[in-house]
Amino acid sequence: MDLGGTNIRVCSVDLHGDSTYNVKKSKMTIPRKLMVTRAGHELFSFIAERVDTFLKTYHPIFLNKSSYPQIISLGLTFSYPVYQSAVNSGILLRWTKGFDIPDIVGQDVCRLLQREIDLRHLPIKVTALVNDAAGTIMSRAYTLPVSSTRTSMGVIFGTGTNCVYLEKLSNIVKPMEGSYDSSTGEMFISTEWGSFDNQLSVLPNTKFDAKLDKVSLNPGDQMFEKRVAGMFLGELLRIIVSEMHTDPEINLFPAYRSNNERKINKNQPALLTRWSVDSSILSVAEADSSDRLGILRAKIEEELGIPSPLVSVEDAQAVKMITHAIGKRAARLAGMAVGAVVLKSQRLHEVKVSTEGYCEKLVDDSDLKTTIGIKADRSGISADQHTIDIAVDGSLIEFYPNFEKYMRQAIRVIEGIGVPGEEKIHIRIAKDGSSVGAAIIALLASQQVMVSSSST
Ligand code: ADP
Ligand code: MG
Repeated sequence: MDLGGTNIRVCSVDLHGDSTYNVKKSKMTIPRKLMVTRAGHELFSFIAERVDTFLKTYHPIFLNKSSYPQIISLGLTFSYPVYQSAVNSGILLRWTKGFDIPDIVGQDVCRLLQREIDLRHLPIKVTALVNDAAGTIMSRAYTLPVSSTRTSMGVIFGTGTNCVYLEKLSNIVKPMEGSYDSSTGEMFISTEWGSFDNQLSVLPNTKFDAKLDKVSLNPGDQMFEKRVAGMFLGELLRIIVSEMHTDPEINLFPAYRSNNERKINKNQPALLTRWSVDSSILSVAEADSSDRLGILRAKIEEELGIPSPLVSVEDAQAVKMITHAIGKRAARLAGMAVGAVVLKSQRLHEVKVSTEGYCEKLVDDSDLKTTIGIKADRSGISADQHTIDIAVDGSLIEFYPNFEKYMRQAIRVIEGIGVPGEEKIHIRIAKDGSSVGAAIIALLASQQVMVSSSST
């Protein structure tokens, strides 16, 4: 169960034990009214209902106690800052990415979900609370042959952004509660880098960034995320473009303006409506290199609400330049952050043998009815390179053309990394990694419970 900032995903994963798996999945946009509500139970009730529907659709057999008496373990990917002192519990510290449900803050989100699941008498136990970036590492690592380089970083560029990396226990100075296995000498750290440099001592800050921050639900917080992640880039574009439209000296979309002066337009266009523009317009703009920018002009109509006959080629060119600046800045900042963590983890000096494996998507999905299978592909295996393996997930990095290219341009100029270091960094999309990884961690957690209960 993967609760992202925009989407909610339910999937069942069948691990074949040989770095391949099959997955059935469903995806849905989270209804806005559940993101900002006083009644916190509504969100978890909704999640439990999605699980119920999923089981009825794909695994009705699991709901028949006499033919299937087992309990299914569920991993909850919850992409918000939590205080986690056990694998199956976590206290929400604060909301980010547009959520605001005050009565859930300070509560154990696993217990809240379990309660709603139990109310529906579903044969499910929440055995793991998973950070989406950590889940991404797990799913990528699962698809790699055992002998290959270990995936040491998981990064999300979706609605929000975060990074989890593997750190030596000896470098962790913060006191840690709870029991953990120290035999590996390592632990995953969630950097929560979305709130990097909230004081803005190094991040760029234009008047448009300041305006976006002011109207957000969490002014002064998540300042890195507000310059890098999907939830904010469309709004940033809207703020800039609406100012250029209303400023008579710039006069962007002049045909639309004179059309409006002639006719009273009762409906406020998306151009002037906060948070109404999806970041996918950035990807469309970056990809459209035609002379007349026809695809982008259609997207401007869809996203900004300006009829495409009223959008001139010059208007579209201006929008393209702005989206490019926003997207490239986001990617370069992302590269800077990745480079910083690579340096901090000191892995550049200790990388061992590498193998390149990657997932091949067989069939895509978009609704409840479709199923995809994913298999590991070993065709690219080369055992002689020294690499740092980074698993990434999220629609922004998946769909924005050149995101990785611009990231790499920034990584290359970081002192201590340079071109040779940048070449050692492998960035690989772990498609739906945050959801699949949750299932892998749920399985491991449930096996741990079985081992510890059989040994007592
Ligand atoms: P979640 O964060 O809920 O796990 P995703 O990883 O799908 O979900 O990310 C959703 C975010 O990505 C939204 O903010 C959306 O605006 C943005 N997004 C979706 N499609 C694209 C695209 N084609 N290009 C750029 N951004 C996109
Ligand atoms: Mg996600």
